[in-house]
Amino acid sequence: MKLQLRYYGDPILRKRASEVHDFDPQLRAEAEAMIDTMYEAAGVGLAGPQVGLEKRLLVALQMEDPDDNEAEPIVMVNPEILERSPENWVFEEGCLSIPGIRGDVTRPERVRVRYQDVAGKPHEIEVDAMFARVIQHEIDHLDGKLFIDYLSMGERTLLKPKLKKIAEKYAS
Ligand SMILES: [Zn+2]
Repeated sequence: MKLQLRYYGDPILRKRASEVHDFDPQLRAEAEAMIDTMYEAAGVGLAGPQVGLEKRLLVALQMEDPDDNEAEPIVMVNPEILERSPENWVFEEGCLSIPGIRGDVTRPERVRVRYQDVAGKPHEIEVDAMFARVIQHEIDHLDGKLFIDYLSMGERTLLKPKLKKIAEKYAS
């Protein structure tokens, strides 16, 4: 099942999503629909608020590098970053909710993440490279943060007209 994407300008993208407490069949169905939606949109990650779900739920491809075409999807419920590496790297990011816009974002290279699976079982993993970047981008979504927030004032000023267009195009 494909879910309707939410776009820049939609207030849900600026809210903090709520903790998930019910690990029920509905959660499983939502996670599956999010994976379908991510594939359909050719994305590498998707967070609940991007499809109108105010839940701390994300799906992501476990990519080793930007060209990894065989990465398996993972579902993370209530994800939390426990540790960030002091080493950072820069990569040009985009977002399914902000079509047509890309920008360089500096992020820690490695992170340790705690999350629950759809059954509620806790896990703790250390991830690096692209996968770490995708997870950080998606966890930001759960806190109402977007990658454009990391851009310089100058870059954001230049993007303003484009962002305004996106907000107008998808406003209902
Ligand atoms: Zn995004």
